[in-house]
Amino acid sequence: MSIMKDQDLSTFTEALRRENLKLTPQRKKIFSTIAESDEHWEVDDLVYRFWESEDRISRATIYRTLDILVDYGFVRKVDFGEGRSRYEYAADKKYHDHMICEECGEIFEFTDENLRKHQERLCEIFDFTPSKHVVQIYGLCSECQAEPDAGK
Ligand SMILES: [Zn+2]
Ligand SMILES: [Zn+2]
Repeated sequence: MSIMKDQDLSTFTEALRRENLKLTPQRKKIFSTIAESDEHWEVDDLVYRFWESEDRISRATIYRTLDILVDYGFVRKVDFGEGRSRYEYAADKKYHDHMICEECGEIFEFTDENLRKHQERLCEIFDFTPSKHVVQIYGLCSECQAEPDAGK
C-alpha cells in the first residue's frame, strides 16, 4: 500500500481547477483511495466499493473524476486483453511492464532497464518515434505451476 503524497493531492487540486471543478470531499476520497492502492483495478471495483461505503459516491462522479485522473496522468489505463480496462495509479511509479497469470489472474510488475534500452535502440534503428509501449507476458505464476488445477 502506498501513501498518498500531499504534493500529488495539490497537483490534483490544480488539475480540477483547470477543469472548473472543486476538490469536494467525494473527489478527495476517490483520489486518496486510488493513490493508496497498488492494485490493477476495474471501474466497477471502485463503483462497488463506494456504493458499499457510507460515502455513497455516485457512478457519474467516479467516472468524471477518473477521466480527469487519466487525462492528467495520475492514473494509467491498462488493457490485459480481458475485454475491459483496468487502471493503476501511475503518479508515483516509474516505467514498468506486466506479467499476467492466466490461471489465477495475478498481475506482477517488473522493470528491466536493459529491455527499455533495447527498445529505444530498436526505435533508433527504425527511425521510429515511440509514443507508448506495452510489454505483457502471459503464462503461469509459480504457484499455479505448482498446482496446475488451482483456480479451476
Ligand atoms: Zn497464478
Ligand atoms: Zn502495473
